[in-house]
Amino acid sequence: MDKQVLVTQSSMPNFEKYCEKIKPLWESKWLTNAGIFHNELVEKLKSYMKADNVDLFVNGHLALVVALQALALSGEIITTPFTFVSTTTAIVSNGLTPVFCDIKEDFTIDESKIESLITDKTSAILAVHVYGNVCNIEKIDAIAKKHNLKVIYDAAHAFGECYNGKSIANYGDISMFSFHATKVFNTIEGGCLVFKDKSLTEKIKAIRNFGLVGEDVAFVGTNAKMNEFQAAMGICNLENIETEIEKRRLVSTEYDKNLCDIDGIKINVAQDKYNNYAYYPVCFDESVFGFNRDEVAIKLAEHNIFARKYFYPCTNEMSAYKGKFEGNTPIASKKAKDILCLPMYADLKLEDVARICNIIKKI
Ligand SMILES: *Cc1c(COP(=O)(O)O)cnc(C)c1O
Repeated sequence: MDKQVLVTQSSMPNFEKYCEKIKPLWESKWLTNAGIFHNELVEKLKSYMKADNVDLFVNGHLALVVALQALALSGEIITTPFTFVSTTTAIVSNGLTPVFCDIKEDFTIDESKIESLITDKTSAILAVHVYGNVCNIEKIDAIAKKHNLKVIYDAAHAFGECYNGKSIANYGDISMFSFHATKVFNTIEGGCLVFKDKSLTEKIKAIRNFGLVGEDVAFVGTNAKMNEFQAAMGICNLENIETEIEKRRLVSTEYDKNLCDIDGIKINVAQDKYNNYAYYPVCFDESVFGFNRDEVAIKLAEHNIFARKYFYPCTNEMSAYKGKFEGNTPIASKKAKDILCLPMYADLKLEDVARICNIIKKI
């Protein structure tokens, strides 16, 4: 039986180091609600992301839900269906209407199609830096200014990236980062918001803690606090982040080398520009390659290699949302049928990458 390779594997700190880190918790017995590690991680992230306003969450999804609530949005939100369901659910669960915009070759929202979707009900654009590929920030910003809209980035895939020499965290009104176990940087589960307007600080903090402001409840809040074990994991993982990303880069380069000149296979060329190597997405053009994405996935699985159809289906084709919300998004639908994310994680062996590529070549 071939060695099993899963699509991802969590980055973890040295075991003794983590144990040493969490030891004080057995003294303090303070496990959540803005504990010492929570606050330490906030400061370390501010410095790493070069951002002034950072708040931590139990997961990325609730961070996004709270972001939309904190901005007091209403009506329609222009967004992409080529994303993890979290993006769309955050909109709908806030009582807002997602208006789906198609995507470009680099998988991000097609900014040239945004303006035609704006109505008098539109209040924001929620775009996604898909696979770490950065959206057309300047255009989106210009459209938002012209029409007085808020801009939220689902930056779940973009941790550690820079754009135009500036940390990616500093674009848009709010950016959400996910620290889920499968992401480039993890706190087991977790996430954060980075926001421009400092005056949102107390509101965001309150909403993620039941809406509490002192003894009063000022907002219909939720419970989305990050606990101390998560924060400690984050502090330990953050120390290794540069090495982790460098190891991912080597994996990515090995894939590129093996797959770049196979007809019918399209690799993610945008990745090298921004550098966090979060995923290794590949598009299979059946008419040229001879096999479709599903056939490739099955073939790999026969060799105990588990790639993932990420993102498939598009969120506007999922039963919960299909037919309920507008959207003419043929490119997103096509990409969702052709895309396969190959195994990608820092500790993936280069010989396993070569083996995966050989299986694909031999198909
Ligand atoms: C992972 C992810 C999320 C949600 O993050 P969690 O931390 O798992 O809640 C949201 N959007 C996208 C695009 C993601 O990949």
